[in-house]
Amino acid sequence: MPPIIDIHIHIQPLDMIKPEALKMIQHGRKDYVEVEKYSESPAAFLKFMDEAEIERAGLINYVSPDVIGFGPEVNDWCAQYCSAAPDRLIAFGSVHPKYVPDAAAEVERIHKLGIRGLKVHPSHQLFAPNAYRDGFGPLGAMYEKAQELAIPIMIHTGTSIFPGARNLYAQPLLADDIGIDYPNLVVILAHGGRPLWMEEAFFLVRRHKNMHMDISGIPPQKLMEYFPRIEEIADKVLFGTDWPGPGVPGVRGNIAKFRALPISPAAQQKILYDNAARMFPVRP
Ligand SMILES: [Zn+2]
Repeated sequence: MPPIIDIHIHIQPLDMIKPEALKMIQHGRKDYVEVEKYSESPAAFLKFMDEAEIERAGLINYVSPDVIGFGPEVNDWCAQYCSAAPDRLIAFGSVHPKYVPDAAAEVERIHKLGIRGLKVHPSHQLFAPNAYRDGFGPLGAMYEKAQELAIPIMIHTGTSIFPGARNLYAQPLLADDIGIDYPNLVVILAHGGRPLWMEEAFFLVRRHKNMHMDISGIPPQKLMEYFPRIEEIADKVLFGTDWPGPGVPGVRGNIAKFRALPISPAAQQKILYDNAARMFPVRP
């Protein structure tokens, strides 16, 4: 089987999560003990990746003091965790411009730590992704610095059911401004706006040269219904599972179902591996 990159997995410091949010993650999970084990041990998680035939994984972490509980130290945690296998683990962190004195300096700091991608989670960070146009200057400074350092940004789009999440900020179309104002910034629209705004995500990926999307959190059996023209954007779609997020049963089943979809082998290869490999070369 050809190699796979799962660009969207949540291995995170569970002890930093608020009790209400942690309950959402634990809810209905029979494999929660495994999740705990992986968050403590990169070696155990790498073994899990081997068994699922995943060559590389993007580990998504982000600062969200209000909804999830993470402060800026989550970046240090993720960089440290991924340093166990930098050729296989792609560290995603984030800068919440309200919680650091200098957003651009924080981008530089965490970049040096080894953070390879920046997550923006508007509905958990409680700002619109284009709020820099309404006076939230430090957000613009963060995008500017990420563009300068060629760090890809992943923006959560689509609904969230975590307590306190504000879904008004989760519409893909709010990211249109970013494509206009930061044309060289590489953007991944996580979850393709599912389950309410897929047309918006598809439109943006086609409109802006550096806009991509990941298909994480979308049940594979829904993918063709949500994105019937996915082959047209096969160069800009990244495979991901969002495991162990709410409603994501497992990684292996997800991969098998994806492979069974009526998508050409060439397009599958791009989505499962090539696009992410190009965006995150093993040695930058
Ligand atoms: Zn996610």
